[in-house]
Amino acid sequence: MEDIHDKLTDIVGKQYVSNSPEELFIYSRDMGTMEPRYPDYVVMPNSTEEVQKIVFLANEKRIPIVPMGGGLVLSGLTRALSGGIILDMKRMNRILEVNESSRYALVEAGASQGMLQAYLKKHHPSLKHSIPDSPPIATIGGNVLIHGSGHLSAAGGFHSEMLNGLEVVLPTGEVARIGSCATSPYWFSRSPLPDLAGLFIGWAGTTGIATKLAIKLYPNKKFSDVRIFVTEAPELAPDVFNRLSGTQVPEDILAAMAPKPEWMEGLQMIIVNYGAETKRELILKRDILTESVRKYIDEKVGGFMTIPTEMKGRFLEAPQKSLAQFADVKKGGGFEYVGAIMPIELFAEAYRKGIDIAERHEVTYSFGARIIGLGHCMMFFFAYAFNRADESDIKSAQKALEETNAAALEMGGIPWKAEAPAQKQIIGKMDPNTFELMKRIRSVLDPKGIMNPGNWEA
Ligand SMILES: Cc1cc2nc3c(=O)[nH]c(=O)nc-3n(C[C@H](O)[C@H](O)[C@H](O)COP(=O)(O)OP(=O)(O)OC[C@H]3O[C@@H](n4cnc5c(N)ncnc54)[C@H](O)[C@@H]3O)c2cc1C
Repeated sequence: MEDIHDKLTDIVGKQYVSNSPEELFIYSRDMGTMEPRYPDYVVMPNSTEEVQKIVFLANEKRIPIVPMGGGLVLSGLTRALSGGIILDMKRMNRILEVNESSRYALVEAGASQGMLQAYLKKHHPSLKHSIPDSPPIATIGGNVLIHGSGHLSAAGGFHSEMLNGLEVVLPTGEVARIGSCATSPYWFSRSPLPDLAGLFIGWAGTTGIATKLAIKLYPNKKFSDVRIFVTEAPELAPDVFNRLSGTQVPEDILAAMAPKPEWMEGLQMIIVNYGAETKRELILKRDILTESVRKYIDEKVGGFMTIPTEMKGRFLEAPQKSLAQFADVKKGGGFEYVGAIMPIELFAEAYRKGIDIAERHEVTYSFGARIIGLGHCMMFFFAYAFNRADESDIKSAQKALEETNAAALEMGGIPWKAEAPAQKQIIGKMDPNTFELMKRIRSVLDPKGIMNPGNWEA
């Protein structure tokens, strides 16, 4: 053990390796319900070369490696299930290039959402990236590689679809470049080469360590506004999503359903964010949105609510803070959600099943859905808050999450960023040849089985 500690110290320096019990305690858990698992070391590399050296050492000594960004995924994916090294990427946080013409940013994988947002605001105010509603210390790498979504997802889809290319340290230590950057000095696209990015997206850090990523940027319009369509009929929601997104006006469409405050109970609030270059364009877009759902307004089964000016600001900011505030509603900082990726027509069923599960387990809930693309699918989230100091509260949330994962699969959805037990549930439903292919890919890429073992295993 001492030998490994010394070797890691030689690679990254004394300050950036730890096996002290206090630090291992912190890195053994997240805010969610998964039980703590202790790593043996926490290491913070500062360059691709340092990551490579750590990977070579891990191969030699057969030590597991768990890549970690902000550690905010909530489903325990950055716990070291078989011990080993947690590779905390937060020091690799440089913003390397912004290409204004081809609208992309090249960053190190540990650059945070907040850093890129602040950098663009200061140096390239005409551009923005799609921001998830997670706390700003969530990293670009951690989010893109789990198929995240955010405030430009109605316009641009999943964040993984906004990935132009990446640099990755393979489990055997070689550095590979994926996308146009493999051939060109520009990181403009994943086309037209064979798309190898899929080898690293959605794999929960089991196929390599991303060190650099290029992501798409979008125009940061001079004016922005928000409208909230309200209905009590969840069956209407899919058609409302389609009508609104079909106008191609919204940048983001987010449905929110919660039993508190009391006036919200039973309501589906469909929050639509959009931008414009001029005030005239903004008014025109507002009218286009109204006309798209005119049928429901005329039938008096739904309509846009007036948003008090003092409330508007919180709906216009990115990240939106309401979910983060809900996360600590029970105090004690326990929070986890099943984010199920589903076809939008399952909205009403998902909503009703969620309420049934939450009520049976007596958990504090908040539900919502983010529309991906022009109604192409949604990320339906069933969020449960609990008090970490209360064992029975944690158990109830755990049960509710397990059942929600099962219900999502049964309906035809797929749990996103699934906990290790939920990954097994997914594998149970998966075409066996697909899972065989996944295993084959992993054994080719990672012959010593060092990358995040315990994930995507039957
Ligand atoms: C209040 C709240 C709101 C949220 N809202 C959203 C939202 O709107 N949209 C959304 O998408 N998510 C949301 N999340 C979920 C989550 O916080 C984000 O997806 C977050 O961006 C994950 O990034 P991270 O850096 O914390 O990743 P981590 O948790 O550190 O890692 C996530 C996964 O990626 C792997 N990984 C991390 N870095 C690398 C790397 N460099 N190479 C290879 N693998 C790597 C890890 O092993 C792990 O499997 C929310 C979370 C909270 C707490």
